[in-house]
Amino acid sequence: MTATATRHKPPLKVLLCSPRGFCAGVVRAIDSVERALARYGSPVYVRHEIVHNRYVVESLKAKGAIFVEELDEIPDTDAPVIFSAHGVPKSIPTEAQRRNFFALDATCPLVTKVHREAEIHNKRGREIVLIGHAGHPEVVGTIGQLPSGAITLLQSVEEVATFEPRDAGNLAYVTQTTLSVDDTAEIVAALKARFPSIHGPHKEDICYATTNRQEVVKKVAPMVDAMIVVGSPNSSNTQRLKEVAERAGCVRAMLVERAAEIDWAVFGSVGSIGVTAGASAPEVLVEEVIGAFAERYTVNVETVTTADEDMFFPLPRVLRENEAAE
Ligand code: SF4
Repeated sequence: MTATATRHKPPLKVLLCSPRGFCAGVVRAIDSVERALARYGSPVYVRHEIVHNRYVVESLKAKGAIFVEELDEIPDTDAPVIFSAHGVPKSIPTEAQRRNFFALDATCPLVTKVHREAEIHNKRGREIVLIGHAGHPEVVGTIGQLPSGAITLLQSVEEVATFEPRDAGNLAYVTQTTLSVDDTAEIVAALKARFPSIHGPHKEDICYATTNRQEVVKKVAPMVDAMIVVGSPNSSNTQRLKEVAERAGCVRAMLVERAAEIDWAVFGSVGSIGVTAGASAPEVLVEEVIGAFAERYTVNVETVTTADEDMFFPLPRVLRENEAAE
């Protein structure tokens, strides 16, 4: 690039959100697949996308991982079978055991924590409300911790209004980990207004990574002409970041998986942008997006930080023990 060509590029201020991208649960899940491939060789089977990011999934496929949606797609094998970070219903490890699979559970510990909360409420005889999005694998996994009917999914304040519990005095709630902090607070408030004695976590079960990524977007979104959220459309926490940006006053918020998806009709004439990434989006894709802007603009990148993260989750025990035995 010549100095002359650089001068023709208009300036662009890029506010880079921090924290963004990979959380501790995603790092653990991806490392679990990579460690299993290194220890046991290819193939390693993974039930469901290990994390909701196409780039990550394609990278692991290239290294020898085979992704399936259900266990019945896997032939009888000694190869590891890994459950994704989103968690699985109890029936899945049971079926894996029946088929003598070498199962490795990459469920995020913060999802497992919600599973245990639900079990404790159930043991205490409480009817459980799960606040979450129908069909998301985490929701399917949490509901599947208990017998059918023990957990009722509620998705909105409207659904709270029409919910008819068996015993209004003996209720508890848990939440999906990757929800909108603000939406969930409204749903929890509606539940508490209708059922004052409802038991629940201290705040909600939304994880630190979801909370922190939303917080910085709330700060950056009103300061920029447009926001780019890097991540996959099936990623819940990523979708929430786009919504949070819009609600914080940024009318041009776009979710992209790769730089090639950037709509330059929208982003071709802006003076400032905010950039963030969902918890399952690798940093290399953030760099790719900023690189695409740098081809069209003279970019000046500033990082806006609202929280420091040092969370770390150790690998599943079997993978750790193998490492120790090496
Ligand atoms: S987004 Fe939260 S719950 Fe999901 S994997 Fe990351 S840390 Fe765990």
